Amino acid sequence: MKFALLLLLFLNPFLSFSVPARAEPNVILVTLDGIQWESVFRNSAMPHLTGDLASEGVLLGDEIDSTVHVSNPVNLSLPGYQSIFLGSTPFCYSNFCKGVQRETFPEVIQRSLNLDPGKMAAFASWEHLKRAYKRSSSPLYLNAGLDPANLADPVHDRIDLEQAASIPKWNRPGIWSARYDSFTYAHALHFLKSRQPRFLYLSLLDADEWAHAGNHPEYLKTLGSYDQWIREIADVLDQSGKYGKNTLLVVTTDHGRGRGGERWREHGRKYPESKRIWLYLRGAGIEPGARPDPGTTLSHLSVREIILRAFELKVRLRHLPKRFKKDSRFGS
Ligand SMILES: [Zn+2]
Repeated sequence: MKFALLLLLFLNPFLSFSVPARAEPNVILVTLDGIQWESVFRNSAMPHLTGDLASEGVLLGDEIDSTVHVSNPVNLSLPGYQSIFLGSTPFCYSNFCKGVQRETFPEVIQRSLNLDPGKMAAFASWEHLKRAYKRSSSPLYLNAGLDPANLADPVHDRIDLEQAASIPKWNRPGIWSARYDSFTYAHALHFLKSRQPRFLYLSLLDADEWAHAGNHPEYLKTLGSYDQWIREIADVLDQSGKYGKNTLLVVTTDHGRGRGGERWREHGRKYPESKRIWLYLRGAGIEPGARPDPGTTLSHLSVREIILRAFELKVRLRHLPKRFKKDSRFGS
C-alpha cells in the first residue's frame, strides 16, 4: 500500500507534497471613529501605530509621502462608512441616510468566494453601521449597537451580558444604540482567535463621542486603547501560523476632526481639515516599512480596492497608486 502510494507520487508530480496548498487570503478591517490626523502624526497619541506597527507595515497619510482623505463632501460618519463599503461616493450627507442599496464589498467577497457566512463577521459599537456594511437583505453576520452577539458561545454570551449592563451615555434610544468599544473589541478578538474568519470587521466609536463631549483626557485614553488593541490583533496574527501570514490588516478612520482651539471637538462640512485621514496596512502583500512614492494619494474609495485585490477578486483599480497596483506592495 505504502509502495503504491509512493509510486503514484513519482508518476504524478501534481500529487507531490512539495507543492504547497494554495494560500487562502484573509482580511481584518478596523475602523476607529473620528481620529484626528494630528493625534496620529503630531501628538504621538498612538505610539505603536506610528512606531513598531508602522515599521511592520505601511502607515499612509503623513502628508509628506502620502495623503489620505475622505470621499464625501460633508466629513461625517455614515457617508464615510458607506463610501468605504460601497467603494463609491453615496448620496448620503448625514448620519440618518437610509441603508446601502447596492452590493457592498463584504457581500462581493461572500458571493464571489461562495464563503460560508460564518467565516465572515462584523462587530460595531454604533448601530448605524447596519446602514453601511451590507444591504438589509444580506445574510452576512453583523452585530451592532446594543444587540447581543447571540453566537452560542460562553465567551460571547458573557460579553453580551456585560455590554447590556454598562451602557454609554451616547446611546440614544429611539435614534441609535451604541455600546462601549471594550465590548465590541472583546467580541471581535474572541471571534478572531476562536474561528479564524476569512473576513473580520471591527468598528469602534468611543473616541468620536469623547471628542464631541469635549473630554480630551478620555479621547486620548481611548486612542491609547485603540493603539494597544491594534498591536494585540497584530500579535495574535503573528502567533497564528499560516492563517496570520495570509492575513491583511487594514486600519482607518471614517473622518478626521477640526483643528485648533475647540475645533478638535467637531468635524463636518464646516471643518474642511476633518477631511484629512490616514490608513494603515500590515501583513499579506505589504512590505514592512515600505514607503509610498511621494505624492501618493488615497481615499476611502481605495479601501475596497485594496481588500478585493487581497482576495484576488476582479476589481477596477482606480483609487490606488501605480506602484501598489503593480507590485501588490508599497515602495521598494
Ligand atoms: Zn464618525
